Amino acid sequence: MAHSAEIIAVGTEILLGNIANTNAQYLSCELSSLGISVYWHTVVGDNPERLRAALELARTRADIIITTGGLGPTYDDLTKQVICETFGQRLVLHEDILDGIRSFYREALHREMPLNNTQQAELPEGCTIFDNAVGTAPGCAFTSGGVSVLMLPGPPFEMETMVERCAIPYLKRLSDETIVSHDIMCFGLGESSVEELLHDRMVHMVNPSLATYAKPAEVRLRATAKAASSTEAEAMLAPVVEEVKSALGSYVYGVDVSGLPAQCLKLLREKNVTFATAESCTGGMIAAQFTSLPGASAVYRGGVVSYWTSVKHDVLGVDQGLLDEWGAVAEPTARAMAEGARRITGADLAVSVTGVAGPDCDERGNPVGLVFVGLATPDGTFCRKLQLGKRRRDRIRSVTCNHAFDMLRRYLTDLPVEEL
Ligand code: ATP
Ligand code: MG
Repeated sequence: MAHSAEIIAVGTEILLGNIANTNAQYLSCELSSLGISVYWHTVVGDNPERLRAALELARTRADIIITTGGLGPTYDDLTKQVICETFGQRLVLHEDILDGIRSFYREALHREMPLNNTQQAELPEGCTIFDNAVGTAPGCAFTSGGVSVLMLPGPPFEMETMVERCAIPYLKRLSDETIVSHDIMCFGLGESSVEELLHDRMVHMVNPSLATYAKPAEVRLRATAKAASSTEAEAMLAPVVEEVKSALGSYVYGVDVSGLPAQCLKLLREKNVTFATAESCTGGMIAAQFTSLPGASAVYRGGVVSYWTSVKHDVLGVDQGLLDEWGAVAEPTARAMAEGARRITGADLAVSVTGVAGPDCDERGNPVGLVFVGLATPDGTFCRKLQLGKRRRDRIRSVTCNHAFDMLRRYLTDLPVEEL
């Protein structure tokens, strides 16, 4: 049977706008990978009557209800109590969970458990318990009247850990089918171009299915197959992945990788190649994105944020005559910046960025969105000219970072670097 789910986020903070409902976003992605359709997102405050009303409605229109939040020890944490009242379940104290929470306090927090936390060890009778590996409140799940209810904690890290370890295996057991999916990552084509290229294949595909998820200049294609076993599902997916890869060619930068920076890290490590950065309008974003990946230190030597022209000259060694003639935002400058970063760090490769992120054009009248991305290599220096148009400053900066990583991965896989 195809399942449908409703996600209920419990917390007045979300309604007040103090926090964004990122839990629902995360859960929706995970559920769609499992082939479970999410038809409703509900947010309700820490109020028992309204939570009860939300649950009563949800049980009429979904067969899986997932709540996040309100499992803590304080008076406003009422999710479990209200769910049990609504579904006619009895709350019982689990001594072993209580012991677990007591030892979490002693060992991880170095203090005694406050009395309030006792209620965290009360769970619906006969439920499946979801251990909380990184916090105190356990989650749980039960099925009543054909509806499965899963309760997860609010703090995103606790919730995500519990989803991976407990909720996904639980949800998989609800279905007699195995669902496998692969993400084909591509850069440089818009979502509509991808759909145009794949249209004939995509419209007829049900199992395996192919869905696109777009970010600026990046598209993730998720191919999902349902079958009796994972071997069977993998066999159904293999030709689809190959077909998409050949239709999109060098725009595809990887399968099941988390993003361009991660793919660059993988390639740099495989080839034992180091790199460095010289950034102007991205102000260190390339360096920050790359160094957020574990293992970056093996291949990333360092970088210069050369915002002022004097830093481009004094630190990176860009020729003053060249700067006077061309200005900061120009192809020769981008090339010289990359070469300078390569020289001063001793890295094998260096990327550079110089451009106009806006909101105003620069003093030479260069338009917003004009960006040059350089890549200095032992085989010469490459440069890509971007005309990103009058978009928001943060968009221009983040798309530029992706172009820098795209040039790097193209160089490392022997593809033409400058073209898109
Ligand atoms: P605790 O034991 O910390 O009280 P809890 O399960 O009772 O956990 P809440 O009290 O509802 O959860 O929320 C705790 C924190 O988790 C919130 O302050 C917020 O930072 C985060 N959080 C809760 N719900 C969400 C959500 N839907 N999306 C993102 N973050 C959330
Ligand atoms: Mg709480």
